[in-house]
Amino acid sequence: MKIICIGRNYSEHIRELNNETPEEPVIFIKPDTALLRNNNPFYIPDFSKDVHHEVEIVVKINKPGRAIPVPFAKDYYTHISLGIDFTARDLQSQLKAKGLPWEKAKGFDHSAAIGEFFPITDFSSTLHQLPFSLHKNNVLVQSGNTHQMIHSVDEIIAYVSNFFSLRIGDYIFTGTPAGVGPVNHGDILQGNIEDKEILNFRILG
Ligand code: ZN
Repeated sequence: MKIICIGRNYSEHIRELNNETPEEPVIFIKPDTALLRNNNPFYIPDFSKDVHHEVEIVVKINKPGRAIPVPFAKDYYTHISLGIDFTARDLQSQLKAKGLPWEKAKGFDHSAAIGEFFPITDFSSTLHQLPFSLHKNNVLVQSGNTHQMIHSVDEIIAYVSNFFSLRIGDYIFTGTPAGVGPVNHGDILQGNIEDKEILNFRILG
């Protein structure tokens, strides 16, 4: 199992970090040791003073494939969830400034929190117009809608599968909307797709 993540897929988030808008999807991978499931608490690692939450729609791959054409991408998933792409922003900024890979800042242990998966048909909106949100300590910090994505889920699957063969059980984080920010000891993160609660867990450290 691998965790494939898409960066810079929502314009307002690109602006808040002063990044350039990429023409092609920005891809990175987290190892399986990054998984955090079952609303277990997230422990802030010692090597960062500025770990950020990035709430994202997560798609689970249910059929193996490579070089998948966009019109067929929808045959490769049925279930989605919500995840947090935890990012050590201070470390990432240092690595980016040196032109080095982000892995340490993005792929560390438990940096990929993922909630329970639900069939897309459980939601009243389609995957192309799906609202989702993140509350921190009962305050709304991120809200997005998949229609704001620069690259759609199907375009992402097609693109990614040109480089990495997809296997059953792989996860794809599809990018975060604006409003990323730090987490601190004692915070509660609560994430929704539409009005369904998908994530609810504590930050410790
Ligand atoms: Zn992200």
